[in-house]
Amino acid sequence: MWLRRHLKFFIVEAKVNLLKIPTFATLVNIRYDSFEGSLRHAKDLLNAAPTSIETVDSRVLGLAKDDIIWHSVADFFPDESGGNAGKELQGVNLVEYTGNDQTEVDNRIKVLTDLLDAALTEPNSKILGYTLAQGHENVKKIWAMRKKSVGLLGNAKGEGRPIPFVEDTAVPPENLADFIMEFRAVLDTHDLSYGMFGHVDAGVLHVRPAIDMKDEKNEGLIRDITDKVVALTQKYDGLLWGEHGKGVRSEYATEFFGELYPVIQQVKGAFDPHNQLNPGKIATPFDLSKKERVELLKIDEVPMRGQFDRQIPLVNRDQFQAGMYCNGNGACYNFDPNDAMCPSYKGTRERIHSPKGRASLMREWLRGMSEQGLDTQAVSDKIKDTPFIASFFPRLSNTLKKRRGDYDFSNKVHESMMGCLACKSCVGQCPIKVDVPEFRAKFLEIYYSRYLRPVKDYVVGSMEYIMPTLAKYPNPYNWMMEQAWINRFSANYLGITDSPTLSKLNIKKEMDKRGIRFATPNNLKSIGLDKRHSFGKGKAVIIVQDAFTSYFETQLVLDTMELLTRLGFQAFLAPYKPNGKPLHVHGFFKAFEKAANKNLDMLEELAAYKIPFVGVDPSMTLSFRSEYPKVIGDKREIPTVNLLQEWLAEQSEHLSSLNLSSSQLKGSFALEDESYHLLAHCTEKTNAAASIQDWVKVFSLLGLDLKVENVGCCGMAGTYGHETANLQTSKDIYELSWKDKINDETLQDRIVATGYSCRSQVKRFDQKALLHPLQAVLKHLKNSRQD
Ligand code: SF4
Ligand code: SF4
Repeated sequence: MWLRRHLKFFIVEAKVNLLKIPTFATLVNIRYDSFEGSLRHAKDLLNAAPTSIETVDSRVLGLAKDDIIWHSVADFFPDESGGNAGKELQGVNLVEYTGNDQTEVDNRIKVLTDLLDAALTEPNSKILGYTLAQGHENVKKIWAMRKKSVGLLGNAKGEGRPIPFVEDTAVPPENLADFIMEFRAVLDTHDLSYGMFGHVDAGVLHVRPAIDMKDEKNEGLIRDITDKVVALTQKYDGLLWGEHGKGVRSEYATEFFGELYPVIQQVKGAFDPHNQLNPGKIATPFDLSKKERVELLKIDEVPMRGQFDRQIPLVNRDQFQAGMYCNGNGACYNFDPNDAMCPSYKGTRERIHSPKGRASLMREWLRGMSEQGLDTQAVSDKIKDTPFIASFFPRLSNTLKKRRGDYDFSNKVHESMMGCLACKSCVGQCPIKVDVPEFRAKFLEIYYSRYLRPVKDYVVGSMEYIMPTLAKYPNPYNWMMEQAWINRFSANYLGITDSPTLSKLNIKKEMDKRGIRFATPNNLKSIGLDKRHSFGKGKAVIIVQDAFTSYFETQLVLDTMELLTRLGFQAFLAPYKPNGKPLHVHGFFKAFEKAANKNLDMLEELAAYKIPFVGVDPSMTLSFRSEYPKVIGDKREIPTVNLLQEWLAEQSEHLSSLNLSSSQLKGSFALEDESYHLLAHCTEKTNAAASIQDWVKVFSLLGLDLKVENVGCCGMAGTYGHETANLQTSKDIYELSWKDKINDETLQDRIVATGYSCRSQVKRFDQKALLHPLQAVLKHLKNSRQD
């Protein structure tokens, strides 16, 4: 009874009218040489009875082209050719047709395409061309690009950041083109950059002008521009808010609702007489005590993020840029288990374990640092110059205080950072490219100058250095790692669990046995210039080693060399040098810089012979283009180290000349479905997206089929999954998408994985040994030649 009496103001029943998702869907993607042209064309498009029309301007398209998303939609927006060659794409209309009857949908599309074909023959046509995206799969790809627009705008360069203060205006569709032209003129007067997209059929426009709100003098622009846009929407019989974002803009509500506004206030007063729900927004009641109207919030009197960010000095902002620009669009709150974006968020569902949560905590921490007058760069430099022992006692003291429960905001930030797998999916997939591993590493460096580091960090950081020595004694090492009590001890006292065992093959001995040469200056000198540079048979290539592949999967290194030799290349193995990536992940910047420089010393010497470098492990190889440049800066040149598949795909002419027909290769492969299935590494998928298709291309050139499977993260990511504290989350992440795929009986023996971590995780949780894609190719080459 009590509940019923008190719930009378809430909706307790709702009738929902659900529509079935139409069976057929097609998008007609129309390209224009001006954004105005695309808007003015909308009237004609409406006559062709589409389900919806969306528009996107050139700025958003330009940003999309620099984003990972473009790989999936590029075919639908080809470069102009013929009479339009060289013309710039300035706008697109995405015209959607849906229905349950294919013929009926096709007929409606034909009305439009006839119209477009006719328009294309006209002189001075604004239309450049069009493509069709048929079927839900293709349509979804383009909508994903459109959906990413808000985030993409946030990725524009410079300090000005897109702000949604005149977002979401709505005018009758027939007024939209004129309205937008005037709207643009207002923004152009202030010399602001902006991108526009929206629902042409509904007259709704999304626009976020880029303003540097950290600069106090720009604050006035908010009032100035909003007043002008309000006047414009009224001039064109529209509204300031079409779908969302009323909030503090409700101060204009009185102008739009006119004589109805007091009625809205009465409703507010009846349900919320004390103005407790969303106070100051939408409508305010009368203050019963003072018998007067409570004021609405004002757009320029509420706290703004720029005011907080401004408190962080430029030097700190610069050093932590990777987290400063998160615009909160929430694309990282991604629940799709088959998408790489933020496994730690998917595994925990806690916002502090998302890129957005981490970036917000980081900004707050930077503000705290600034309040204490600390310059993060100076702190970092000092850490590098301070001997370990000198700061030991203060660190011990702080650690003891932390154990006692003393409050320090840094500990909350630390908790969030420690949940990060450093998989770099955020860097590739966040529209703003918020780079959590980068600012996480910088934070850890500073944090551990105040607190003691766990032993596991030193173990992980030194691993690449001790591996060559340990690898000389694989049997005793492996025996130890296989003892349950040692694993328990390691898990409980070192914080490391399920350590992998070393390969029993000694790389040097195996190389000697096979007559494979190391890439030493003497060996390289012996190759003729033509072979160093030429395409095709005899062309030389140097494999850059990494600790994981060389010492835990030595067979894979040998297989790489064998495959390249069988394909007619002259393969050399670079001498082993620690890459330093594990040091970077844990914020050992000084040691990382040293490792990077030593590695570069070696590569620089070898680079003189102009032989391409190639790496096998995706994460370690990609560090040459992500972590290395950040720490090396302009100090020296970093040679290109390609992923194996990137380099092989470039040798397409030679590979196809080998004429390895599928029957030759698949001779002994008596399985019904002869495709291989690739489960790619997160970092590779999100930071070098095109390289995944390179594998497909290489397989195809060699007469094999490869399908790329959609999976999320395997949950291992370097050593994350081996840290005791992360074991359960690592398992949870693995079970989100990998487990089912690995145990899918229809795929047995045909799953290949590019990442060492991924293969190691599968071995740990499902006791299955996956091949690297190159090993699958080698297997077929061997079979085809009856070796
Ligand atoms: S971190 Fe998340 S919320 Fe922030 S910009 Fe990137 S995707 Fe958007
Ligand atoms: S690196 Fe991976 S786990 Fe860490 S925040 Fe980015 S996406 Fe999430």
